[in-house]
Formats: sequence, structure tokens, C-alpha cells
Amino acid sequence: LDPTDNHFSPEELDLEKKLRPLSFDDFAGQDQVLENLKVFVKAANLRGEALDHALFHGPPGLGKTTLANILANELGVGIKITSGPVLDKPGDLAGLLTNLEERDVLFIDEIHRLSPVVEEYLYSAMEDFKIDIMIESGPNARSVQINLNPFTLVGATTRSGLLTAPMRARFGIQSRLQYYNKELLSTIIERSAGIIKTPITTDAAIEIAGRSRGTPRIANALLRRVRDFAQIKGNGTIDIEIARYALKALHVDAFGLDEMDNKILSTIIDKYKGGPVGLSTLATAVSESAETIEEVYEPFLIQEGFIMRTPRGREVTDKAFQHLGKSRPNAQGS
Ligand code: ADP
Repeated sequence: LDPTDNHFSPEELDLEKKLRPLSFDDFAGQDQVLENLKVFVKAANLRGEALDHALFHGPPGLGKTTLANILANELGVGIKITSGPVLDKPGDLAGLLTNLEERDVLFIDEIHRLSPVVEEYLYSAMEDFKIDIMIESGPNARSVQINLNPFTLVGATTRSGLLTAPMRARFGIQSRLQYYNKELLSTIIERSAGIIKTPITTDAAIEIAGRSRGTPRIANALLRRVRDFAQIKGNGTIDIEIARYALKALHVDAFGLDEMDNKILSTIIDKYKGGPVGLSTLATAVSESAETIEEVYEPFLIQEGFIMRTPRGREVTDKAFQHLGKSRPNAQGS
């Protein structure tokens, strides 16, 4: 089980869809973000206009795609979904854009991975709802400008710093999603358990929540795995005993750190005496890209106090030494 992985089987994907909140009211947490979005949606609905373009940034699994879908629902419009790496030619984008109905949402996941030509092409679509398309070919080829229906572009990215400045400037609404605390995650787990018709006790939900890496996607994935244990090894109800038993069998650690989190910590400790070590050196040592470490792993490890970023690189904290049961070399600096 690798809960940071979102490559689910078809059944799992189906379940994930079922668990996805459909309205503002179903969506837990991110209060500040939600409060603002509610105002903007209400105003857009009142005026009958398209919502301003919106950009969501934050680590994977925190609800960016979910929010894009909720926006479309709350605006009462359709949504088309694509992603940066998929759109490799302006032609692909033109096809999508010309098929949008008035006020529709176009969701582009991993928007920082758009190719520069496609990105440039998107600018006039976002700004004036106009695009140029080439018609005919050979000597008769010419470009004509066509009008699009006003639409809302919703972009998602793991880090807004990866976006070009002109792209970022075109989003009127920009929101950063935060990791979820234990209480919120346990609310999400209880809601999901209701949807998959699995009884769960409050303490069991809190136990799973505490090990979910602050991430609803992981919380839901763990819930599904624990449910399997409850059905096969228990009586179908998820209580604290079965939750602990399952989490142990799944090798989920007490802080919800996954294999790569622990590998990063133990590498810094074992190979670099606790650090500091530069990002790219660390990336090579754990065989993961520097980008992924910076966007996916490090933010949580920093937030939970396992790692510090210093001018000379990444350093682990005492908490990391304790967590891995290791002692600091040269504690006296000798
Ligand atoms: P992202 O696009 O940021 O990677 P998703 O929107 O795909 O994340 O969310 C992953 C899963 O987590 C969704 O299927 C949804 O079920 C669940 N989820 C995310 N945010 C929330 C939330 N605030 N409340 C309830 N469930 C959520």
C-alpha cells in the first residue's frame, strides 16, 4: 500500500468518486478558502457571469480536483477535465475551448506542466475569450479569430512557484490548500464510512486520521484497507482494536509517515549525520526527483517538525532521531 500513490484500480477509482464531496456543504476544512469561494460563486451566479479564473495550489490529495468539481456544481454548469502533460498541441486545447458552453468550468490539473506554446495560446482565451485558429492548409492557410463562450479556467498545481508569472497573473482567484488536522480528517473518515456503509467508532476514526499524513486521499485509502480487515478478521465494524491491528499489518507508522518519508529521514541521519544536506544530493541518495521531494514529502515533514530547511540544506530534528530510534552522532559537537 502506498497511499501517496493515486494510481488506483478501476474499483478503487470508482469508490474514490463516490467519496468525493459534491457541494460546499460536503467539503470539510479549508474554511478560509471556502468562505471566499462561496462569496465569489454567489456573486457570479447573481450576475449570471462566468466565475473568475481560479488557481488551487497545494500537495496532492488535499482536494483541488474536488473543489473544481464543486465549483462547477455550485455554478450549475458543466466541467471539462484535462491536465497539463496531456495538452501537447494548441490544437488539443482549441478543441476543448470551442466546446465549452457559457460559464462552463475547464479544469487543468498539473497546470505548471503545460508546454510554453499551449500556455501562450491559453492567455488570450483566458483574457478575452478569443482564440486564433488556423484554417485550410498550404497556400490558403490563414488564421481566423473566433469568440469563445465566457468560461472559468480552474488550474491545479502542487506548487504555485512552478507556474510562470504571466500565467499566475491571469488567475483572479488563488487559493492555497493546507494539510488537514486530525479532527477534520476523522470527520471525513466518518462521512466516507457512512457512504461505504461501514460502521466505525469515533476512536477508530481518530486513530486512522492521525496516521493519514494530513491528507484526505490517504485517509480514505486507509479506511478502505481497514474495512477489509474489519470484514475478514472482525465483525464488519471498525473499532479501535481492528483499526490498530490493520494499521500495524499495513505498516503505517504512528505519525502516518510513509516509506519514502522514513527513507528521507533515515538517509539524512545515516549518510549525512543528520544534515545539513543539499536537496539534489538527498534526491539522488533516495532515488526520487528533487521536485517530488520538495512538493510532496518535504512540506509535511517540515510541518510535523521532522525536518528543517536551513541555508546549508535540509537537517533533521531531534524528533526524527527519536522517531527512528537513533541517537545523534557527536551530540556534544566533539
Ligand atoms: P487533489 O486534486 O488535490 O490531488 P482530490 O480533490 O483528488 O485531491 O482529493 C482526493 C480525495 O480526497 C477525493 O476523492 C475526496 O474524496 C477526498 N477529499 C479531498 N478533500 C476533501 C474534503 N475537504 N472533504 C472530504 N473529502 C475530501
